[in-house]
Amino acid sequence: MTETLTSPLAADARASERIPVAVLGATGSVGQRFVQLLEAHPWFRLHEVVASERSAGRSYGDAADWRLETLLPASASALEVKPLGAQLESRLVFSGLDSSVAGEAEDDYANRGCVVVSNSRNHRMDADVPLLIPEINADHLGAIDLQRRRRGGNGYIVTNPNCSTIGLAMAIAPVERVFGIDQLHVTTMQAISGAGYAGVSSYAILDNVIPFIGGGEEEKIETEPRKILGRWDNDRFTDAPFRISAQVNRVPTIDGHLMTISLKLRDGGVDLDAIRDAMINFSAEPQRLNLPSAPKQPIHYAPEPDRPQPRLDRDREHGMAVTVGRLRPCPLLDIRMVALVHNTIRGAAGAALLNAELLDAKGLL
Ligand code: NAP
Repeated sequence: MTETLTSPLAADARASERIPVAVLGATGSVGQRFVQLLEAHPWFRLHEVVASERSAGRSYGDAADWRLETLLPASASALEVKPLGAQLESRLVFSGLDSSVAGEAEDDYANRGCVVVSNSRNHRMDADVPLLIPEINADHLGAIDLQRRRRGGNGYIVTNPNCSTIGLAMAIAPVERVFGIDQLHVTTMQAISGAGYAGVSSYAILDNVIPFIGGGEEEKIETEPRKILGRWDNDRFTDAPFRISAQVNRVPTIDGHLMTISLKLRDGGVDLDAIRDAMINFSAEPQRLNLPSAPKQPIHYAPEPDRPQPRLDRDREHGMAVTVGRLRPCPLLDIRMVALVHNTIRGAAGAALLNAELLDAKGLL
């Protein structure tokens, strides 16, 4: 266990200037990451925590079964957990809610004027909700105007993709942008933290691999990248044209979704060095704007023959970089590679923080 190095005085001085935020689903796997990452965030300050009736009314320290490798911040521990639906003082609301309740609750807060930055699947494919990866489709924020008009106020929802989708979309974005993709096949090996705390029992997962993940995991991975890499045409999203086939597996790692990807390029002409260069040099608005959670280099290329590996590579750039390796020709399609994403950081809470930082930088908060 490691303690954070922030001095209390410095933290207090900054705290008064930071934007107060609420976290919905704060007791869960993603919610705890939010609490951890917000402790030293330079722009945002954890002000309110919200969870189910089981947790409401208790202190966060009592209600959350804290499982992260850093100490639970004392300021967060003392917060009283509010019930879902409670009036909030914060306008910026992060959501790590279970999908059974996220859809309605996020709509409700957005309709009350909040900016809801969500991890849940419920609104990702809505016609006026950005499914945002700031390095790829910052221009999709254009949909917010339309959404605000529909809601009749200033509130809106922005979502981040499924945790595997983020790793996949980041790894293929430079390939799609420079060379074009015709079709791809991906097989995931997903960590147990992706199932939430109550997700998979140790008896089910130890000494085992489970070739199924519920909640439409494969469908999400097959559809979300097409929206992300597609266009915002001022009044609608147009999906990228390539097709995806996904097979998912739950494996006994704690954090870090690993995936093998084979893909066919639109125009053939495989040049592995050029593809590798396009990945390494991939950089976009979060890097230009120097957003606090943005990785300096969004895609790391691991040249070793046996990398990336979850335990060794998931924490690159504080868990915000995607690592790709084993780029080589594919005898069936054109190329194949391995990609790794930290599922609760770049794939969830860290992604949402980066989304909110982009919203702030664009004057949308
Ligand atoms: P989790 O560990 O099961 O946490 C769920 C959270 O939702 C808890 O805070 C829980 O509060 C709250 N909740 C459940 N039922 C509720 C209700 N009826 N009313 C109010 N609050 C309720 O799940 P998770 O893994 O953090 O996932 C959260 C969301 O993020 C899901 O939609 C998931 O699909 C998505 N996501 C997860 C990951 C990942 O890697 N884990 C990645 C990307 C996206 P209590 O503790 O009070 O029950």
